[in-house]
Amino acid sequence: MTTIADRISIAQSRIKQAAQNCSRLPSDISLLAVSKTKPISDIIAAYNAGQRQFGENYVQEGQEKITALAANYPDIEWHFIGPLQSNKTKIVAEHFDWMHTLSRDKIAQRLNDQRPANKPPLNVCIQVNISQEDSKSGVDANEVTTLALTISKLPNLSLRGLMAIPTATDDIRIQQQEFANLSALFQQLKQHHPGIDTLSMGMSADMDIAIANGSTMVRIGSAIFGER
Ligand SMILES: *Cc1c(COP(=O)(O)O)cnc(C)c1O
Repeated sequence: MTTIADRISIAQSRIKQAAQNCSRLPSDISLLAVSKTKPISDIIAAYNAGQRQFGENYVQEGQEKITALAANYPDIEWHFIGPLQSNKTKIVAEHFDWMHTLSRDKIAQRLNDQRPANKPPLNVCIQVNISQEDSKSGVDANEVTTLALTISKLPNLSLRGLMAIPTATDDIRIQQQEFANLSALFQQLKQHHPGIDTLSMGMSADMDIAIANGSTMVRIGSAIFGER
């Protein structure tokens, strides 16, 4: 039976291989372990295997896990990666270190206003809609510049980069095209915001293509914790 520790090690090897295949440094790509719906015991198992960055999709569930683990695991870095309604922003502002799915001015303003004074700025990525599916959330590519400017003026937010969830498809050409589009957008944005360093793209099924296209953070759930 493979353990969570085994699967983290396999995911790390995949990152390393994918990086080497395109002459990138494996250390430039971080592994975000997506623990949504999984029990705290799974997070501890991953932690004991060296994992420190965890992603959660649901505000309430995330808050409970963060609170439960705060005392004994203070060096975990918590990333919010789910859709966020404006009436739940306070929980994210108070508990998380990162927020990947920012796509509205109003949410940015609320997160900024609700960030506790004793915490460093909340790290944020703008979620971009690169998918051809209508239902996907995120801003359109042509709205990224404006939202980035808004964020850069908010002192309690730190703009770190871009995030996207691509079209759910097995067609490698579509995956490739969408990741390349996001990567180009990231390079453009970097010219105006030289401090940005994070391209959050790639999940269990498509991490290799994402890395080949410049991803700096892959969000891996099922390949570490099993199917949900
Ligand atoms: C669930 C989720 C993931 C992880 O997906 P897997 O296919 O389980 O690796 C990554 N990113 C987001 C935004 C998710 O919601």
